[in-house]
Amino acid sequence: MIDSTQSSQLRVAIIGAGMSGILAAIKLREDGWQHVVIYEKAARIGGTWRDNSYPGLSCDVPAHAYTYSFAPNAEWSRHMAPGPEIQAYFERMVQQHDLAPCIRFNTEVTACEWRGGAWHLATSDGALQEADVVIAATGVLHHPKYPQIPGLHSFAGQCFHSARWDHGAEIEGQRVGVIGNGSTGAQLISALAGRAAHLSHFQRTAQWILPVENPVFTEAQKQALRDDPVLLKQAQASESYLAIVDHFTRAVIDAESPELAHLQQAVEENLERSIANPVLREKLRPPYRAACKRLIVSPDYYQAIQHPQVALLNEGIECVEPEGIRTRDGVLHPLDVLVLATGFHADRFVRDMNVVGQSGLKLNEVWAERPFAYLAMSVPGFPNFFMLNGPSGPVGNFSLIDVAEAQWNYIAQLLQPLRQGRYQQISVAQAAMNDYETARIAAARKTVWATGCNSWYLDAQGVPATWPWSYAHFREVMTTPNLAHFDCA
Ligand code: NAP
Repeated sequence: MIDSTQSSQLRVAIIGAGMSGILAAIKLREDGWQHVVIYEKAARIGGTWRDNSYPGLSCDVPAHAYTYSFAPNAEWSRHMAPGPEIQAYFERMVQQHDLAPCIRFNTEVTACEWRGGAWHLATSDGALQEADVVIAATGVLHHPKYPQIPGLHSFAGQCFHSARWDHGAEIEGQRVGVIGNGSTGAQLISALAGRAAHLSHFQRTAQWILPVENPVFTEAQKQALRDDPVLLKQAQASESYLAIVDHFTRAVIDAESPELAHLQQAVEENLERSIANPVLREKLRPPYRAACKRLIVSPDYYQAIQHPQVALLNEGIECVEPEGIRTRDGVLHPLDVLVLATGFHADRFVRDMNVVGQSGLKLNEVWAERPFAYLAMSVPGFPNFFMLNGPSGPVGNFSLIDVAEAQWNYIAQLLQPLRQGRYQQISVAQAAMNDYETARIAAARKTVWATGCNSWYLDAQGVPATWPWSYAHFREVMTTPNLAHFDCA
């Protein structure tokens, strides 16, 4: 049990050394918390930026907005930063804040049980650890989704998921197939066109594409940012970026909004303008509204798909054979390398970790219908257990760093009285959870994500599992916790 005289002794276990786990550790240490441990199942930090290393990987959120607010970076090379630069940024953060000593690498937390007023963590090395507070920073798109295609395992060439890129695989001069045309598949095609001897893009459902150029920052621009901290700070939350976020959120949360109509016009014009061949153009035309699936941001996918050595195949996959993929029209497409850009299990969150709360409550059972959390952070009956970027957070085309920082600001305020010994445990009250989830689901049904397409935003009941209100509202509710919504003891 936490005692007020021992408040400085409170132990915090952070699970995951990705963007949000690193953020939590930096903030806790800055705030004087002394017992902070990050459990990281891999041998390196970085989360999604470590796991994804495919050619063409970049973040489609402007680089200066996809940066910790407290650590601006004048060195970003492009408007939208390449993946390896982002990974290097987080590694620099760990170094600058001397976090390495508090990270336990190669240590997966397999179970987490609330017993006797503390969390008991079981780790993959067989050890048992205790903590007073758990911060689950385990990411959203973390568990690769492998397609169930007959014969997949019979393929004789190299086959791997986009998030498990095989850097030993030859691309130059090879016949390469990519299954999937989400943000990952589109980036891959842009990067591999012209490198592979032949590139086959297997498309099940067409995607709307918003053309956004990705210019480099010139040396003069970078120098200006280095010289002027005010300018650098402004670049992180530029008026133009905030206006885009506002416009985009208005579009997605109201399928009847003029903003969505505007977006629809932009993506349709892009398709008409960019694709000369009318047959190809119709293959690429989605049968649903813009932004129903996560919008793809790409300056060059349409150009790449028209490359003479690239083919778009939308006949549907019949099966995989040792030599390649047979489509439903009976044609065999011979391949040397097959990339599965088939996405992630977006509903896993902290699972497969076995989380057991008060009175033996199992998170897996509580989440049997759908994963949920109050403001994406807290679940009734799981005291002192907080998630960053948990279920129902804003996961559209936004900066998840910005989201995690706002969430951290909220969690830090909940931890303060705990630290002062004013209470020993806190979790959202059941009534507040119910009210939140009822309102969220009602609002989610009015969003563009619920207008008749299939996407990773939808839960098993077909309800968008995301924040369905404006970004301004998100910022507002994240400002100060309403303690009346929490059970504190
Ligand atoms: P995704 O958006 O879930 O796309 C998966 C793709 O695989 C879809 O095209 C899907 O087709 C296809 N697919 C899945 N199973 C299939 C099967 N059995 N047969 C044929 N096709 C199949 O995954 P993702 O592209 O990896 O992107 C996931 C998310 O990661 C993005 O939405 C984004 O949030 C994030 N991301 C961001 C960036 C960035 O720049 N910031 C870059 C990459 C990824 P259907 O559409 O028909 O289901």
